[in-house]
Amino acid sequence: MNSLADNDRHYLWHPFTQMKDWMAEDPIVIASAEGAVLCDTEGREYLDGNSSIWTNLHGHRHPKITAAIKEQLDRIAHSSFLGLSNVPAIELAEQLCKLTKLDRVFYSDDGSTAVEVAIKMALQYWQHRGQHKRTKFVAFADAYHGDTLGAVSVGGIDLFHAAFKPLLFDVVRVSRVSELPRGDDVAAVVIEPLIQGAAGMKLWPAGMLRELRQWCDKSGALLIADEVMTGFGRTGTMFACEQESVRPDLMAVAKGLTGGYLPLAATLTTEEIFNAFLGDYAEFKTFFHGHSYTGNQLGCAAALASLRVFEEERVLEKLSVISSQFSVGLERCRALAQVRDVRQCGFIGAVEIGLYPLEAKMGIKVCSEMRKRGVLTRPIGNVVVLMPPYCVTREQLERMLQVLYGSIRAVCC
Ligand code: PMP
Repeated sequence: MNSLADNDRHYLWHPFTQMKDWMAEDPIVIASAEGAVLCDTEGREYLDGNSSIWTNLHGHRHPKITAAIKEQLDRIAHSSFLGLSNVPAIELAEQLCKLTKLDRVFYSDDGSTAVEVAIKMALQYWQHRGQHKRTKFVAFADAYHGDTLGAVSVGGIDLFHAAFKPLLFDVVRVSRVSELPRGDDVAAVVIEPLIQGAAGMKLWPAGMLRELRQWCDKSGALLIADEVMTGFGRTGTMFACEQESVRPDLMAVAKGLTGGYLPLAATLTTEEIFNAFLGDYAEFKTFFHGHSYTGNQLGCAAALASLRVFEEERVLEKLSVISSQFSVGLERCRALAQVRDVRQCGFIGAVEIGLYPLEAKMGIKVCSEMRKRGVLTRPIGNVVVLMPPYCVTREQLERMLQVLYGSIRAVCC
């Protein structure tokens, strides 16, 4: 009989993975988890150093989230949101509006679709407002907003996006606020607030987001905040926009929305944008967009439970305390000869190593050394990311940081 590992190599195609390399190695096959610890089919334990690709907040198998999903499952797993509503989707929408100070919630499935929805809403909004010239989108250099074609169009990472150029729409690409275009033809600007994730955890200068909001107010363009990575406490506040007192016109959330348990996303917007879509049926102002799993009950129940955990377990307060331990550990890496930069934003940490060509796979090598030492994470080029779940204990965090330090030292120095 074939082993699971053999069958993986035989049948599967993994995301963002050079499958030639993958097939030459033994995959880690995850079987179970608890808190910040993942366990594989061989019984080996690993610390979840990137919160399962930036999704997990309160740890795996959190009793409150697990119970909420099970309770929901005893009622119903899923019913269509087209022409029907459901209990947890309504309750979650109310909570999300209160938290973000936005007015309306449109559900979808993941970060890419939440961004896709925001782009389409922005474009159609201007059509309903009779401003047909407003069709341009402004996006930032090195941005990453997901892998569906609209999200790729506003994305700016050539390595990922160049192959798809013939299918993408044109965007105005800028690096800073001073490069923003003049004119009244911009539909919206899309930004990852405070920090660009897939660019290698690059921090925006303080005040930049507020300046961008001011530019949008002046030019009339809409501001789309992609909080897919930053949302739900990652940067230290519930949403990154709060840190610069910015209210975007549209906000995309996903990843941490369900605490990392189920794929669910949302695009939030203002009553003003929502109202522009109202009209008599025959005007066809309907937002013609929707997915089969929109408003999925299990996902919404998990998200409600995750928000309860934030409150009941005072998660943000605890995070602010443990963040200083995180800073100290990350800063230690600066002393290593090959470390070029250390960046931190809330509970996101990144260590950039040497000036190596991508082909040298140094980030990958550091992460495989970390894996040998019991910590799982993924690099972005030469940037090693550490993004622990919020439930991490002091001991676990210290181990993650020591493994990071020791692995960089072993591989690069
Ligand atoms: N936006 C940002 C800022 C992201 O970091 C990501 C994913 N890393 C996405 C969008 C896409 O999210 P998903 O992978 O859930 O489609």
